[in-house]
Amino acid sequence: MTEKIRHRESGRDKGAYGTDYLVKCPKCGGGAQVRSGRLTCPACAHTAYNPWADPNSEHYGDAAYRPGQGGPWYGMFVPSLEGGWTPKCPSCAAPVDHDFSRRGYDAVRPTKTRITCQKCGEVHVHALSWEAIAATASPSDPIFGCTYFLIQETRYGEIFAQNVEQLADLRAFVAAGLRERREGENGWMNASYVSRLPRWIKSAKNRAAVLKACDQLLAQAAHLR
Ligand SMILES: [Zn+2]
Ligand SMILES: [Zn+2]
Repeated sequence: MTEKIRHRESGRDKGAYGTDYLVKCPKCGGGAQVRSGRLTCPACAHTAYNPWADPNSEHYGDAAYRPGQGGPWYGMFVPSLEGGWTPKCPSCAAPVDHDFSRRGYDAVRPTKTRITCQKCGEVHVHALSWEAIAATASPSDPIFGCTYFLIQETRYGEIFAQNVEQLADLRAFVAAGLRERREGENGWMNASYVSRLPRWIKSAKNRAAVLKACDQLLAQAAHLR
């Protein structure tokens, strides 16, 4: 019988992994480091800066922060038409039908668009404004909106982590056969990052596949050093 490894949860909350991220470089797609509000890509030397996540900046942790404010945003932008989400046709006042769902991540963001009214057939030019939003489809950093670099598909789902520290905790948790919980300042640690992982990751029968995915990601991260 294999000896079960005892794993003591670090008690880290999801936000306790700080503002360090390994992301896909918006320019070359390679692994880039986001640290203290600075994005640095070792492969193509691309850099970006947002003082909101820089502890040495007076704008650090600014409560008024929104995606794309204070620095470049490489994530998703959603457009809105003049007149809000239910603009009316200037000719017949019918609600204008518009679907921009495929525009996410487009680098080109036009300031106007021509729309044919479904009711009267008139074509009108509508002004567009764009808003940076945090994507929900794939995990991305909140500072620059870049997709995580540490993402690995398994046949059960996606394994991902914001940085090596989080990935190491995930691996240690999954590797542990016997889980030991400890009481922290805010009560039992079942609200911590590892406890909130999806059930399939925690399932003993998926352990080998999850560990394999973690190790593949750790190997990828090692290349960045
Ligand atoms: Zn790059
Ligand atoms: Zn119309």
